Amino acid sequence: MKYIGAHVSASGGVDQAVIRAHELEATAFALFTKNQRQWRAAPLSGEVIDAFKTACDRYNFTSAQILPHDSYLINLGHPVMEALEKSRDAFLDEMQRAEQLGLTLLNFHPGSHLKQIEEEACLKRIAESINIALDKTSSVVAVIENTAGQGSNLGFRFEHLATIIEHVEDKSRVGVCIDTCHAFAGGYDLRSEEACVETFSEFERIVGFQYLRGMHLNDAKSTLGSRVDRHHSLGEGNIGKTAFSWLMKNKRFDGIPMILETINPDIWKDEIAWLKAEQQG
Ligand SMILES: [Zn+2]
Ligand SMILES: [Zn+2]
Repeated sequence: MKYIGAHVSASGGVDQAVIRAHELEATAFALFTKNQRQWRAAPLSGEVIDAFKTACDRYNFTSAQILPHDSYLINLGHPVMEALEKSRDAFLDEMQRAEQLGLTLLNFHPGSHLKQIEEEACLKRIAESINIALDKTSSVVAVIENTAGQGSNLGFRFEHLATIIEHVEDKSRVGVCIDTCHAFAGGYDLRSEEACVETFSEFERIVGFQYLRGMHLNDAKSTLGSRVDRHHSLGEGNIGKTAFSWLMKNKRFDGIPMILETINPDIWKDEIAWLKAEQQG
């Protein structure tokens, strides 16, 4: 069983995101639990939490189908201690918000070295940030997203993800989310079935499918290995439809949220319907 959806808006309240996902006939969704461009947010009220849980029950979304995403401001590998602390506090708040909403996953971008510390040191710092947050929460899984490798962002090589996981103490509460656009921009080809097989055997060898807790399904405006993060609608970009069709037919991607972050929300419903149909086809 595949869980397929999109990163929907939570404007008007997190419960509105659930309704939007339902309207798309989605079986999964992603959301921000606070404004993603601000450090601070009011705590979730009991009322808001109840409304979210009620909507999830009503429209049949379990926590396995929901992949919240943290704020873009957070850098868990920040080279400067004061800024690192600020990010760690904000990340803990995101993890706690997810738990309050009854969610079990939190998706985030690993972090950037800002050309001030070595890659390896930055990866260890990210793992330490995860350890701190896991210590102060009880159930939510920290889901590291692979990046396109733009600027000094780490996480564009499977090896980066593996190094972070290696240094996380509680391996049962760390996972990864693979974004197809980011993988492609990071140098992993997905343009044919053979290329998909090759890329995901490398993923299996370096990281391991036991850590795969989500996928972001995006075609790419950017080119292979360009390290540029530009999403496109499925089949419109440089990856093409084959990869998405291949993913839908592959049982290894069952049971995890697969989320569109494609550029035209007007066609999300069609993209979701197409993905669902490809499972059988
Ligand atoms: Zn993504
Ligand atoms: Zn992206």
